[in-house]
Amino acid sequence: RPVILWFRRDLRLADQPALAAAVASGAPVIPVYILDDETPRHRKMGGASRWWLHHSLASLDADLQSIGARLILRRGKSDDILSLLAKETGASAIHFIKHYEPWWRNAEKSLAKALPAGCDLECHDGNYLLPPGSVTTGSGGQYKIYTPFMRALWQHMPPAKPVPAPEKLTALAHWPTSDALSDWGLLPVKPDWAGGMQQLWTPGEQSAKARLEAFADKAKFYDEKRNLPSIAGSSFLSPHLHFGEISAASCWHATMAAGGSVDVFLKELVWRDYAQNVICQFPEYGGRNARDAFDRMPWRDLDDPAVKADYTAWTKGQTGYPIVDAGMRQLWATGWMHNRVRMIAASFLIKHLLIDWRAGEKWFWDTLVDADYGSNAVNWQWTAGSGVDSNMFVRIMAPLSQSEKFDAAHYIRHWVPELSDLGEPYIHDPEEHGVRPKGYPRKLIGHKQARERALGAFAGTKG
Ligand code: FAD
Repeated sequence: RPVILWFRRDLRLADQPALAAAVASGAPVIPVYILDDETPRHRKMGGASRWWLHHSLASLDADLQSIGARLILRRGKSDDILSLLAKETGASAIHFIKHYEPWWRNAEKSLAKALPAGCDLECHDGNYLLPPGSVTTGSGGQYKIYTPFMRALWQHMPPAKPVPAPEKLTALAHWPTSDALSDWGLLPVKPDWAGGMQQLWTPGEQSAKARLEAFADKAKFYDEKRNLPSIAGSSFLSPHLHFGEISAASCWHATMAAGGSVDVFLKELVWRDYAQNVICQFPEYGGRNARDAFDRMPWRDLDDPAVKADYTAWTKGQTGYPIVDAGMRQLWATGWMHNRVRMIAASFLIKHLLIDWRAGEKWFWDTLVDADYGSNAVNWQWTAGSGVDSNMFVRIMAPLSQSEKFDAAHYIRHWVPELSDLGEPYIHDPEEHGVRPKGYPRKLIGHKQARERALGAFAGTKG
């Protein structure tokens, strides 16, 4: 009897514990991916993620074919589809890597009830440095704050050495039917906005490995370069990690093996584990403030056309703040934004425009190729100050001095061509210097005025 291997955000063959266990069973393996827009969830997968998924699945199928298997594609509610597939194929087990988004936890529970007799559910861990929920305090509780969480996790590092991909899968005599990937409509058609993503990214496991190899030698310079948006100083691994095309353990070992001081990079990787731990404890984190005071925040109303216009200007990179605009345009063009600029752009929406962080979280969800329920929510709530482990709301980032401090001139020239002729210091704040570049908007609101409005609004929340 065959076994089913259920892929989700773990689209790789190497260091994939569910695959390794399925192979070890000696039975023929049926790899399956289900496009599930039906299990109730926070929000459907966004547009940029769908683009990535399409290419990642094509790549996974090719890799599976090279070891004698293929990827079966089905569409619908995961538990229904899997229980039908188990009946249809007489499978003796379903192997999968555990996922922690609340909707996946629900789907895993429903699946356990829906399975036909004689088919076992085999759950594995393997997408994180340690299984989320397993790093506990001395008294057995969960950590809420990043630094003590990181220190506790560090005690268990390094993670186990990554396991290579299997060389061959036992072939099946008759493969179940599969949807055609091209029928799923994951790619944009009109307009095709994915040109910039196509240039920057190649989804799939082979490309993830190549990115990691290229970065490993540079990881020792990460600390000095990661905050500078004008240079590519970070790993660009986030979408590969999100879709599980590479394991966190592989990233850990490859950068350690390259030598040098790489702790700062590894600690950043721990943020990804931390975010999962937060959503394990607070499943509704993507939509609910962790601090009650923020439920009383007088956010500006997006139904008001003037507020909506400000929001639209932010999404299009037309705020009059060059660093924010560069970031928002980079996001739209490539599906990715530099981390420092994500913080600045998010803070601008929340504090300068006084718009609820959830509107920003939603935009990022749709436009990021690395959109991740846990990481996105944790970082938005951190920036807002509404989270369990947060920056304080009253610490209001000044986008213009951040732009100077982190040397963003080259980055701005690249992404905001209206400003490409400007030198320092004008490029960081043309309006302040009395420069009016053609086609570039005036600031939506001055920094001082925005700061006072934000602080006033926040003061009103204290009950
Ligand atoms: P590197 O700096 O090379 O870091 C290596 C890896 O560590 C990343 O690929 C990522 O998996 C992880 N990581 C690094 N920083 C963080 C962090 N702060 N939180 C969680 N994981 C981290 N990251 C996402 O993966 N998905 C998101 O949806 C997401 N939304 C964000 C929203 C906001 C408002 C902000 C401020 C940050 C967000 N981040 C998110 C975190 C971070 O910006 C990206 O992980 C990082 O920019 C990805 O680039 P990189 O792979 O070159 O990262």
